[in-house]
Amino acid sequence: MYSDRALVIGAGFAGLLAARVLSESYGDVVVVERDRLAADTRYRSGVPQAHHPHALHARGAEVLSALFPRFGDELVDAGAVRADVGSDHLVRFPTGWAPRDHLGLSVLSATRVTIERTIRRRVLKLPNVSIVDGVAVEGLLHDRGTVTGVHGTRDDRPFTDYADLVVDASGHGSKLVPWLAEQGVHCPAPMIVNGHTTCTSRLYHLTEDLELDWKTARELTQAPRTRRGGTVSEVDGRHWFVSLSGADGDAAPDDEDGFAEYAATLQCQDIAEIVKTASPASAIHRSGTLRSRWNRYHQVQDWPRGLLALGDAVASLNPVHGHGMTLAALHCAELHHLLQGHDLAKEPLLFQRAVARTVQVAWKEVTTADLGWGDRKPPLRTRLRQWYARRLTQAIPGSTRVYRAYVRVTQMADRPVKLLAPAVLWRVLSGSRLRATGR
Ligand SMILES: Cc1cc2nc3c(=O)[nH]c(=O)nc-3n(C[C@H](O)[C@H](O)[C@H](O)COP(=O)(O)OP(=O)(O)OC[C@H]3O[C@@H](n4cnc5c(N)ncnc54)[C@H](O)[C@@H]3O)c2cc1C
Repeated sequence: MYSDRALVIGAGFAGLLAARVLSESYGDVVVVERDRLAADTRYRSGVPQAHHPHALHARGAEVLSALFPRFGDELVDAGAVRADVGSDHLVRFPTGWAPRDHLGLSVLSATRVTIERTIRRRVLKLPNVSIVDGVAVEGLLHDRGTVTGVHGTRDDRPFTDYADLVVDASGHGSKLVPWLAEQGVHCPAPMIVNGHTTCTSRLYHLTEDLELDWKTARELTQAPRTRRGGTVSEVDGRHWFVSLSGADGDAAPDDEDGFAEYAATLQCQDIAEIVKTASPASAIHRSGTLRSRWNRYHQVQDWPRGLLALGDAVASLNPVHGHGMTLAALHCAELHHLLQGHDLAKEPLLFQRAVARTVQVAWKEVTTADLGWGDRKPPLRTRLRQWYARRLTQAIPGSTRVYRAYVRVTQMADRPVKLLAPAVLWRVLSGSRLRATGR
């Protein structure tokens, strides 16, 4: 134990995982959350993205299982659908259909509400962790270069709490930059890459008698021409979650007819078929301006002691690529690793640098794709990566080996350098199509 008390701002995905990790090193861990969290809470205003599908990458699921043994089974008991990314996923690239071979990499499909609720239940079983809901944090308490707590309001009354370590896990809308500025600590402007992406999503009731040969059907967007994409996944055992995406300013309408017409324009007609035949279980929700933003806290030399930041509060990436929860899980894995040998309240930049290294990998992948939109010519290195990515997608329909390498990297199970392994490189560069590309 380093000291007595850690305080986490935000009981979302990253905050809950951070609390689990901190419970091993701190006597008392308190998570403060702005929303009210009743046991049956479904959609809440602090997590509007829960109206959209949330795929948990294989690497993220691995971290969760290490933190919460049997987590995958528990999620399946709650209705999540386990699927092999190869044989159970029907994937359409602009260049053709991906091979449907078993890849031995399984993912779990559940709504964000179910994922979060399952984690929250596990965290609340930890004897030294508590969640105080209804608390809106409005700033940090400082003492000579050290953060000592937070202040805000609860039920319109002032709220103050003190801790040896404060962790900002307040997500995409984090106010950490202005809170630090109030104390004279200035952060570099965030890096922003905007592919002008929009997601429009709706939940449907599962039609039991429809026989499908997939558990997820997906069509990918790709610059510079394929602006429209979509996905449908069986989730929570009772529903299909349909999400239609548009890049470069294209966007699916959020009215009934417009949504169906947009789905019908996709090559993967399975998505349009669900929209046309299944009965809706929710309203249509639309999230626009889904850009990537990175607060480079690791570069702030006078970063205060007693403060860490993780999850979307540091970096929120264009969610169409589905990295967000896995990145937050990787931040918490770093937290776990570093707390074994360091008092991070005294060495916070050690952690922020580790967070930056995990962000860097995903940032490159996501922004390489998104910088392909628009008229501005990206730097040469990015254009080379874009060129290789396009060659890779040309090779995928004809090669299970290339597709496996691609899937393992996008699921964050392998590092991107694996896409340059000789057997993959040869197939990508030779442009060989080793077999027919039918569905
Ligand atoms: C449309 C969309 C689709 C997405 N799809 C995927 C996907 O398929 N796969 C994936 O991995 N990721 C996806 N994401 C990203 C994912 O939702 C985030 O990366 C993830 O939720 C980050 O977790 P977090 O804990 O940092 O933030 P959040 O989960 O957003 O949690 C932040 C928490 O902090 C609370 N809070 C905020 N401010 C305060 C305050 N001042 N005081 C107290 N509490 C506060 C909020 O109420 C909330 O509970 C998607 C995102 C969007 C927008």
